[in-house]
Amino acid sequence: MNLQSDITTIKGVGEKSATLFHKLHIESVKDLLFYFPRDYETFEEPVWIKDAKADEICTLRVFVCGAPTLKKVRNLSILNVFCKDSTGTVKITFFNMPYMKNILKSGQEYLFRGILRKDHTMEQPKIYKEEEYRKLLPFIQPRYSLTKGLSNQAISKAMRNLLSLCPLPEDILPQKIKEEAGLMDYREALHNIHFPENEGKLLKARNRLVFDEFFYFMLMLHRSREITGQAENQFSMIETAESRRFLEKLPFKLTKAQSKVMEEIKEDMTGNHVMSRLIQGDVGSGKTIVAFYALLLCISNGYQGAFMAPTEVLARQHFETLNKMTRDYGLPFKPVILTGSQTASAKKEVYAQIESGEANLIIGTHAVIQDKVSYKNLALVVTDEQHRFGVRQRDALRNKGREPHVLVMSATPIPRTLAIILYGDLQISVIDELPAGRKQIKNCVVGTEYRPKAYEFITRQVRENRQVYCICPMVEEGELDNCENVMDYTEKLKAVLPKEFRIASLHGKMRPSDKNRIMEDFSAGNIDVLVSTTVIEVGINVPNATVMMVENAERFGLAQLHQLRGRVGRGDAQSYCIFMQGGGSEETKKRLEILNQSNDGFFIASEDLRLRGPGDFFGVRQSGEFSFTLGDIYRDADILKKAADAVKQNEEELFSADFIKKFKEQNGSYKWNFVDFGTI
Ligand code: ADP
Ligand code: MG
Repeated sequence: MNLQSDITTIKGVGEKSATLFHKLHIESVKDLLFYFPRDYETFEEPVWIKDAKADEICTLRVFVCGAPTLKKVRNLSILNVFCKDSTGTVKITFFNMPYMKNILKSGQEYLFRGILRKDHTMEQPKIYKEEEYRKLLPFIQPRYSLTKGLSNQAISKAMRNLLSLCPLPEDILPQKIKEEAGLMDYREALHNIHFPENEGKLLKARNRLVFDEFFYFMLMLHRSREITGQAENQFSMIETAESRRFLEKLPFKLTKAQSKVMEEIKEDMTGNHVMSRLIQGDVGSGKTIVAFYALLLCISNGYQGAFMAPTEVLARQHFETLNKMTRDYGLPFKPVILTGSQTASAKKEVYAQIESGEANLIIGTHAVIQDKVSYKNLALVVTDEQHRFGVRQRDALRNKGREPHVLVMSATPIPRTLAIILYGDLQISVIDELPAGRKQIKNCVVGTEYRPKAYEFITRQVRENRQVYCICPMVEEGELDNCENVMDYTEKLKAVLPKEFRIASLHGKMRPSDKNRIMEDFSAGNIDVLVSTTVIEVGINVPNATVMMVENAERFGLAQLHQLRGRVGRGDAQSYCIFMQGGGSEETKKRLEILNQSNDGFFIASEDLRLRGPGDFFGVRQSGEFSFTLGDIYRDADILKKAADAVKQNEEELFSADFIKKFKEQNGSYKWNFVDFGTI
């Protein structure tokens, strides 16, 4: 077995489980090695019911008293069973697991692990046998993201086999860099990230791997910066009558910040050098219109412009909006959409229109910069909510001929010092002002006992023809312990909300065409309540949606919750945000309360970091946009700075043929996150 081998070469992974691994994008042994735990669990001795802390995970050793009862509420089966130890009684509930009725025998003893609520109930606990639990006790156990049919145990077992039998990648980082940054050996880090010997080693292992992640990212950035320099503007433009008229006809008054940024863009594109500009602006600050202005300027000068979005759903929404604007304002746009899920023949037709210049505004996902697309005269590329296109895309486009202007839009609030590192090749504009007249969103942080009230509230809003988002951290049961999942939650809501409400679900594992359909239905007002994962986090604009309810809010980073909140309050109506805390302590609550105090994304992210402290890195992800596998730009800002320095100071050695050769041998064109090793 080596790293390139197929996953089935691992003992115990057969054809059948291989298909499940494929669902997690694990094809090779190497993919598995880099499938890091999303979380860890430390098992403790079972506790007495009376000693268990409310709303926290614990293990109870109890015996079943009486037969379990099973009832059905529409599609949901609910099984209740009472259990006891010598200090108290708990009611345990299982959803959609009717077969438990035959497994749980009255009088028998079990270990149940889950969150014990104040009212002495526990939902969906894990069940262990005594000897099985003993084995877990002394170690920190990895928890992987799962898919239905593939258990944490199965992944752990495959991982153990891999680590004991497969030669791990050599540590190629120069000794000097390792010493200066105080890094753990690479192989030791790979072992400890999966199966930590202790907490100290886990921390060091994580530091090392985060360092590498940032380091190679910086290396790539550095390299691409070196090539770019300050290129000459080969698409000179002038301000056109159309672009001026467009601004006069807008139905609202631009904010000062929007006008300023539009002015900067105009100066760039009519100037001597190619534009490379980042627009940072909090959710709802009105970045889209600024992008449209840039596209209009470009197109009314006779060139083509491309607009890239991170998801098809968002691309489609921009396409609709631009079509409408083209009609309403008589703009010279001839828009087409290009996405991965289109049929080959549809794509071919679009390619032809792009090549002939018949289409001048190309909207889509990263499909718009793929090799197959050849442009007649592409002069501007705008990327929405996705900085990572910035680097790769320019490389790809440079290879296609002349270098177009680039505009990157981001709602991720980043402190200036980090922005300079991460976006060093871009000029930065900030939209630091929201459009006037927006109503403040009303927030609350509540426990799960508030659910009935929340559902009543949602019912009233839907009856007033408003729409609602419900966010769950998981897609389906079993990916994470003690968290709500989209599939079951949708059923739950169908059971508790009025029958006539139209409730649908949306998540990342759906086929793109299904996702699009659901999102279009929601936009058109044909769905009242949308149960979703964070796939709706970026960019979506449905002004009629007025309620955002987030289940297991404690599982999200505050910056991410802030992005989610940005999906409501986009119209004239009062909007509401309900953060439902499914677990965690008083401290968690305090952390979530920050969202009540502030609406400033940057303040929220930095407060979150301050409260959690640098050692706390389990389970909370800060931002979708900079989704490094392990690294978090806020929490790991120090490592990011170190990695950036290491690249800068060792430039010569790192770009020597020797290092690049070693590096390529090890990684080939392997893509890890958005570090595309092929481009180094
Ligand atoms: P984001 O910056 O999050 O991408 P959008 O560009 O989607 O925000 O804008 C959010 C909403 O605000 C849209 O419905 C848009 O039409 C509206 N909007 C943008 N600029 C203004 C403005 N100056 N005044 C009023 N509404 C605006
Ligand atoms: Mg947007």
